[in-house]
Amino acid sequence: DLYLNPTYSFDNYIEGDCNRLARSAGMAVAQRPGVTSFNPLLIYGGVGLGKTHLVQAIGNHIKGHHHDKFVLYVSSEKFTNQFINAIKSNTLQDFTDFYMKVDALILDDVQFLSGKEKTQDTFFHIFNHLHQSGRQIIMTSDRRPSELQGLQDRLLSRFKWGLTADLQQPDFETRIAIIQRKLQAEGIYIEYSVIEYIAHSVNTNVRELEGVIISLMAQASLVRRDIDLDLAKTVMKNIVTAEDREVNIDTIQEIVSDYYDVSIADLKGKSRKKELVYPRQVAMYFAKELTDLSLKSIGYHFGGRDHSTVIHAIQTISDLMEQDDSVKDAVQKIRSTFS
Ligand code: ADP
Ligand code: MG
Repeated sequence: DLYLNPTYSFDNYIEGDCNRLARSAGMAVAQRPGVTSFNPLLIYGGVGLGKTHLVQAIGNHIKGHHHDKFVLYVSSEKFTNQFINAIKSNTLQDFTDFYMKVDALILDDVQFLSGKEKTQDTFFHIFNHLHQSGRQIIMTSDRRPSELQGLQDRLLSRFKWGLTADLQQPDFETRIAIIQRKLQAEGIYIEYSVIEYIAHSVNTNVRELEGVIISLMAQASLVRRDIDLDLAKTVMKNIVTAEDREVNIDTIQEIVSDYYDVSIADLKGKSRKKELVYPRQVAMYFAKELTDLSLKSIGYHFGGRDHSTVIHAIQTISDLMEQDDSVKDAVQKIRSTFS
């Protein structure tokens, strides 16, 4: 019951390809804590992908359905601080006794224990006691266990006793669903095309996606208008996403359109005139080289073309560079403007 935040539930944890296994394992554990073979359950994944939300949802579900169970959520940082304080105040026994009473222990961000030998020793004993007496252990980590340097082997080998499941970057459909859910919770309606635009523009993690939605709502209320595509575009321009910190597709389109003296609208447009097709292909080539965007989303940024068009463009430019020095020079010149 301690440290659980009731706003995190399975209900508001959108399911998608990116989290299906982790979510259903979490659900199984929530329904039958300590009974399934998913003990411990370790969820890993990058920042902002929903680890804390998922394990909190598990905790809340257990609390709501098994009233006799003592559920404890604690960050590894807090666990470490409590441990250090217990040493200082000579109450280590109380500390371990307390943790050994827990029916479902949720330890968030275990990578934080890395290098902290004494804390790991104590966690090891707590873990063994809980596991032997059929209590549920749930952990999260920002990387897969094999990459958890600084964690004792005896701990890592116990992590493998149960189930390890990862969370991946949300796919497009999941991003759409998350945006819709969020807006619905706020009682805001926006057009589907705007939702799609946001889902296409923010493809890093859920936290960033939520940040964008919050900025949009703030901006909309500030200027007293509805959220439409124009407003979304304006807001997106001012938001620095992880992707923007690298070269982004807008910059590529601007630089290539300047270089060949064609408009950005033409780069994205339908015309198949040779003097437009070639710069468009160059821009797609750079989009692939300099961003993490998928072929599908590159196509999207060029007037909704499909991924095979993008593949063809990249192939064409690569071939031309081999055959024609002037193309090679041009590509190098353009590339130098990005660095
Ligand atoms: P992590 O712990 O992996 O850094 P969080 O659990 O804090 O990530 O998630 C970041 C934000 O994204 C939270 O506000 C969380 O509610 C939200 N979030 C993450 N995944 C989902 C999802 N599948 N559905 C709904 N919201 C999500
Ligand atoms: Mg977290």
